[in-house]
Amino acid sequence: MSEYISKSEAESWRCGHCHVPLTIKPVQVEYLGSAFPVDLPVCPNCGQVFIPESLALGKMAEVEKNLEDK
Ligand SMILES: [Zn+2]
Repeated sequence: MSEYISKSEAESWRCGHCHVPLTIKPVQVEYLGSAFPVDLPVCPNCGQVFIPESLALGKMAEVEKNLEDK
């Protein structure tokens, strides 16, 4: 499984609502009808998943490239 964010990096972030450190959890990300498991920072209190814009764009670009190759 790909690791986009290190554990220490995620724990340096905090939920905007709860102000608690985030934890890394595998999250199913859907794109173009397919689901991909990605380790993302999740708030352990409210369950909010945080996807940094740069990470999301990188993932989408990667998925699109894989599809084009097929
Ligand atoms: Zn929260």
